[in-house]
Amino acid sequence: MILPPATLGMLGGGQLGRFFVAAAHEMGFKVWVLDPDPHSPAGLIADRHLQAGYEDFAALDAMAEACAAVTTEFENVPAATLDYLAKFIPVRPGAPAVAVCQNRIVEKSFLRDNGLPHGPFAVIQSEADIAAADASLYPAILKVARFGYDGKGQARVANVAEALHAFRQFKGEPCVLEQMLSLDYEVSVVLARDESGKVKCFPAVENQHSRGILDVSIAPARTSACQRDAAQEYAERIAERLGFIGTLAVEFFVSRGQLYVNEMAPRPHNSGHHTIDACAVSQYDQQVRALCGIPLGEPRQHSASVMVNLLGELWFEGGDPHGRYREPDWSVLHAVPGLRLHLYAKHHARHGRKMGHFTVVGEDPAEVLAKAMAARAAIG
Ligand code: ADP
Ligand code: MG
Repeated sequence: MILPPATLGMLGGGQLGRFFVAAAHEMGFKVWVLDPDPHSPAGLIADRHLQAGYEDFAALDAMAEACAAVTTEFENVPAATLDYLAKFIPVRPGAPAVAVCQNRIVEKSFLRDNGLPHGPFAVIQSEADIAAADASLYPAILKVARFGYDGKGQARVANVAEALHAFRQFKGEPCVLEQMLSLDYEVSVVLARDESGKVKCFPAVENQHSRGILDVSIAPARTSACQRDAAQEYAERIAERLGFIGTLAVEFFVSRGQLYVNEMAPRPHNSGHHTIDACAVSQYDQQVRALCGIPLGEPRQHSASVMVNLLGELWFEGGDPHGRYREPDWSVLHAVPGLRLHLYAKHHARHGRKMGHFTVVGEDPAEVLAKAMAARAAIG
């Protein structure tokens, strides 16, 4: 078991890393963060911010020297980086698990090979693959296999001609072409898995997206117990087959009453932010525990919760990209009982950039939702 005053390593310095640093500090650990961005939200509160690239071997050597174990907060850390660090210290999750989640082609093949439900798709490596793809996939979404997030690197296409056009716009990058499913709603399951294979699942969360970006998460999801259990079982199976150690998130679509796995994230997830305020342990506490070999906590949810993302447009008057730039009036949110505001201290707001979130917790799910929606309307 790794225990304080040990130092832990975090690859990536965004808000997920920042919450990990806070959780680790709470438990008495020190944290070093590697992120090239001088204003990285996690780097700002880390014991040391290594401001270097993910393939800077001098920085990796320094991290391996100082840290007892290392984890990640985003899936695009190069596999070579994880492999290199693993020669010296435990890296959790390991490179093979992260590799599956960082490439949509590998991810979809993993789902297919493990008998997990997924929507119809085709692998697109060339224009010929588009010509050969089943016509029943349309209307479809073309997604680049790597480095997409928050709906980036995706195009909705109605037919072959539009798919060809989008593929050229993506400069011929390998893609998946997914059938557009009619969504009843979306859910996600966040879980933690330890070295011995023990799994602790948080209750499934219901997610609402706006323009491809998560907007609102309602926890627990307003879905049937049987649907919740099924999602949880699939998520557990994925963690097991990946040999996953750490915090894992699995996103699902519910379409015509059927569950489909959308994608996995080998790290804490935006839809698990509420675990900080509404659960006995947070997804970040669990990440620290799994990394250190500390027994996982009980993910019991003690309050109903609704999480609302705060995007960069809030910083622009009228939500207009050309509007005046100013700090939103946070006192409006602080006036709401049961609301907790979390801001990530990002240097500059941009449209679509996740700048913070708030969580409303309480006893009555309907009341919590109404309060959260009113608070969102009040802040703009
Ligand atoms: P990201 O990596 O940006 O989260 P996703 O594949 O999860 O990419 O897509 C973002 C959102 O776009 C989804 O949560 C969903 O709302 C919508 N979406 C993506 N793929 C499909 C699909 N095949 N059918 C219907 N909606 C989809
Ligand atoms: Mg997603």
